Amino acid sequence: MQPVLELEATVYTLEQMRAFDAPQIALAGRSNVGKSSLVNALARRKALAKISATPGKTRSINYYRVKPDGFYVVDLPGYGYAKCSKEERQKWAELIERYLSTCPTLKALTVLLDSRLEPQQLDLDLTSFARKSGITLLPVLTKADKCSQRERAERQRQWRDILGGIAPLVVSAKTGMGVDNLWASLRKVVTV
Ligand code: GDP
Repeated sequence: MQPVLELEATVYTLEQMRAFDAPQIALAGRSNVGKSSLVNALARRKALAKISATPGKTRSINYYRVKPDGFYVVDLPGYGYAKCSKEERQKWAELIERYLSTCPTLKALTVLLDSRLEPQQLDLDLTSFARKSGITLLPVLTKADKCSQRERAERQRQWRDILGGIAPLVVSAKTGMGVDNLWASLRKVVTV
């Protein structure tokens, strides 16, 4: 059966996040990496998640319920928006790190990485934090339609080396490439 993704709640604080006890897969990435577009591609809907004309605006955490499976995809605010103050960026990091270290039902962290860009410091910080904390990582290269096959393969290899052997999935929200593979990986990780 094709899974369905439904927005169930939008929250702003760690306290509000505690109300959700089903298995969760977090979704994180630098702002403008294509996170909203990918949520829409997963949902096969055009406007479930708002595609940001102004990146870095959304500070909310969105809980998407996957049906019929019952787990949540937890869409975390995008990080690294250049125009945010240092204080705001610090707040983001604290919220996310606290969420990642305290969520008792967290099954994995899906980190979105732009396939066109060299690994960015903030991505390296987040993936290294996750690995040190023993969180299962599901790396995903976005906007694959913007790269040649050779460039994609090279970027995959580069990240696989950085992540100790975990090769990222490759997706495009625009063409739908890799979206079924991502669904399969998400469903697999909650059943482990
Ligand atoms: P977010 O800030 O991470 O939520 O990123 P958005 O989903 O808002 O996307 C940022 C920009 O990248 C938008 O202009 C999107 O249309 C574009 N974009 C997102 N995904 C893709 C993709 O797979 N292919 C292409 N070509 N553009 C994409």
